[in-house]
Amino acid sequence: MDTLSPGKRSQIMSAVRSKNTRAELLVRRYLWSHGIRYRIHRKDLPGKPDIVIPRYKLAVFIHGCFWHGHDNCIRGRLPKSRLEYWKPKIEANRSRDRRIEEELNEKGWRQLVIWECQLRTQKAASNTLPMVLNQIMSMC
Ligand SMILES: [Zn+2]
Repeated sequence: MDTLSPGKRSQIMSAVRSKNTRAELLVRRYLWSHGIRYRIHRKDLPGKPDIVIPRYKLAVFIHGCFWHGHDNCIRGRLPKSRLEYWKPKIEANRSRDRRIEEELNEKGWRQLVIWECQLRTQKAASNTLPMVLNQIMSMC
């Protein structure tokens, strides 16, 4: 049953959106300042990657640990309650992610996943971002 008005729903959706955007912005700013040119949210590629780097045919995704089921991550752990509700949801997201990666590969694109926990704190981000840049630079 859908009891949310369209206005309320889009309010919620944009809140979700801007939450994702903080991590995205961090990555984008870093890449840009290191000379990596990208496009964002290219709808013609599988999974609508968050960041696309055409020069390397690379699609970058910034995944929320919970929704995408990050392995060995405290934030990726399933809740103990209502497991029967969450488990299939997260499993479906994970198999969707795998399918997207296959589709990208078929089109000749590579993908790079950055997990939200890798950007959550300044310390984490300052480890992750140079690592990501190295990975990209070694792709030529
Ligand atoms: Zn994580």
